[in-house]
Amino acid sequence: MNAVPQPPPSPDEVPLAIAPVADPLQSLTVLLVEDDPVIRASLALPLAKRVGAVIEAGNGEEGLARFREHRPHVVITDLVMPGLDGLALTRAIKAESPATPVVIATGHSEADALIAAIEIGVDRYVLKPVQVDCLLGVLGPLAYTAALESRQKLAAQVFAASSEAILIADADLTVVDANDAFTRISGYERSEVLGLHVLDLDGAIEGEAFLEALWRTVRDTGHWRGELWSRRKSGELYPEWRSVDVVRDADGRISNYVVAWTDISERKEAEARIQYLAHYDALTDLPNRVLFSDRFEQALIHARRAGETVGVLFTDLDRFKLVNDSLGHKVGDQVLQEASRRLLSCVRAEDTVSRLGGDEFVILLPALRTPQDAGRVAEKVVAALARPFRHKGDDLSISASVGIACFPNDGELADTLLTHADLAMYRAKSVGRNNFQFFSPELESGALSRLSLEHDMRQGLERGEFELLYQPQVDNPTGRLLGVEALIRWHHPERGLLLPRDFIPLAEESGFIVPLSLWVLAEAARQVSVWSGTGLPPVRVSINLCAAQLKQPDFAANFARILAEAGVSGEYFELEFTEQVLMQDGERNLLVLSDLKKLGVGITLDDFGVGYSNLNVLRRLPVDTLKIDRSLVSEVTENKDDAVIVDAIISMAQRMDLKVVAEGVETADQAGFFRDRACQEIQGHFFSKPLAAADLPGYLNSLPGVLAQVAG
Ligand code: C2E
Ligand code: CA
Ligand code: CA
Repeated sequence: MNAVPQPPPSPDEVPLAIAPVADPLQSLTVLLVEDDPVIRASLALPLAKRVGAVIEAGNGEEGLARFREHRPHVVITDLVMPGLDGLALTRAIKAESPATPVVIATGHSEADALIAAIEIGVDRYVLKPVQVDCLLGVLGPLAYTAALESRQKLAAQVFAASSEAILIADADLTVVDANDAFTRISGYERSEVLGLHVLDLDGAIEGEAFLEALWRTVRDTGHWRGELWSRRKSGELYPEWRSVDVVRDADGRISNYVVAWTDISERKEAEARIQYLAHYDALTDLPNRVLFSDRFEQALIHARRAGETVGVLFTDLDRFKLVNDSLGHKVGDQVLQEASRRLLSCVRAEDTVSRLGGDEFVILLPALRTPQDAGRVAEKVVAALARPFRHKGDDLSISASVGIACFPNDGELADTLLTHADLAMYRAKSVGRNNFQFFSPELESGALSRLSLEHDMRQGLERGEFELLYQPQVDNPTGRLLGVEALIRWHHPERGLLLPRDFIPLAEESGFIVPLSLWVLAEAARQVSVWSGTGLPPVRVSINLCAAQLKQPDFAANFARILAEAGVSGEYFELEFTEQVLMQDGERNLLVLSDLKKLGVGITLDDFGVGYSNLNVLRRLPVDTLKIDRSLVSEVTENKDDAVIVDAIISMAQRMDLKVVAEGVETADQAGFFRDRACQEIQGHFFSKPLAAADLPGYLNSLPGVLAQVAG
């Protein structure tokens, strides 16, 4: 900074950015005190046409009462009146409100009375008989000052209280004022910067050319808005959102510049974090499923054209779960990190090693000459992971099973290839782990048992073998019930109790998910009406849906029919979709979702934070709630990375006005973590496991607070 600081002007001299007042007379309230009714009327009528309002009083006492009642901007009073005269009235008014201008009308040009009046603080006098024009001439400047003062007061309050840093400069760009937020954000005291040239003070690091262009725009168009990086007094860099505006005087000349900005580093951090999250696994820094899928598609497109082979290696650690369960998550995490380093050491720069979740890794090998090339990499991978992992002087043996599928021999499409590699990996496990297997069509003969399961499912639906459990979603920390999530179970006649993971994937693949989901909706709707019939407070039910529902053209209509048949309102339903599902066909989904929303249902983005985490989905689609995935929640009190991500998600959700639900909360510590972050709704074993419908009233009764509420 090379400008010489000048002594700061006193705050009173500081001009504030105020636009000229339009017709100040119009905003004026005038109190007219005159004991002669004829004179009063002759003044009040024409005056009322020009000023905002005229209040009349017939004597001094009444005048004072009216003054207290209406607090007019200006008082006009006769001098000589019976009782409280003009002087006494003025004295009383000035005692209460020294700034209120008082105009005295007098027929007596007596020097004594006038001198007394001036001593009391009368602002102007007019001679009787009073001409209205003359009175207006007196009122004009008074009105202007009054209006300006009140606006100035307001502007000064806004200026001081603003959370935006605000700098005001004069026409030569010399700083004439700065507010508290300026000091807070920039680190400079107000007194340090008054008198400096704005450009000398500007911490923007974008360079001179950028700043010149900025100020040129301001002069040409009257304003500039944008994001830039700036430095605080401490030298620390931070991103700011800046606006610059010019203020012009009545003649249209620039009188001031107002530079205002906010520190957007928090927002930036959250966004960067989420963007990163969208493509990388936070634990290992490997590309996640999204980035992997993207690269896989690219590789396939290229391979089709070039006639090349693309290999995918599905890799699963063999004894990871054992290590994780016996030595704890921390050690588990270290093993995963070490495993990912070893995997990277087995591949070429153009290959992609990705973590799909848990201990599953997948390796993409584009542009191979033959499938045997993939086998050679798999061999290396198995060897690399067979080497013991060191932990506190102990050797942990982990090992890995790898399944290989290659384009074009084992499939044309990414999904098929991945499934086939997965099947091959299971084969590797079943023949003793610590080895790799190529996909072969026989592996699919497992399809036989799938077929029978599919058959069983259809029959099971007819025979009433499915059941919905309901897991409470509760207010954190009171435990008050806010809703439940419906979770499906299948009581299979031979296989016993089956969990969703045992049959939902197959139901999705075979299309059976469509009738199954309609059953889920109908059953949940029926249950809501049963509960409300037994006097429970209304319970909101969340339903899990998948891509197939959004693809049904009549899904919203079907749902509406189901609601009508059960006689319940859509407001009791929250529909949960994963991001992957919502992403698939954005435009269409938007239509289907808007139709659903017309029924009053809420939309929840399920399993948030592990997959796409794409901000655009959130911006475009009518989502009401984010459900933070259990995998993040489970680590949140132990794993800093996860805590940071969850923090970012919560703060982003708050900015976007979305509700946040944390699922899979198992411990008091986790519940406390979310309570501290104003995440008010949680779900998980800490409060309750999924319950049979009949057990929900019992659950409510077990909560004293809720019990009282139900009873009341
Ligand atoms: P989700 O939507 O993530 O549901 C939450 C899962 O986490 C449930 O598993 C629930 O039992 C489990 N859970 C809840 N709190 C805790 C906790 O504190 N600790 C642990 N370890 N687990 C907890 P569930 O019932 O096995 O369901 C698995 C998935 O199956 C669900 O995941 C959902 O995606 C799907 N699903 C369940 N019911 C339906 C359904 O009716 N239709 C469809 N399409 N999918 C369903
Ligand atoms: Ca769910
Ligand atoms: Ca989930």
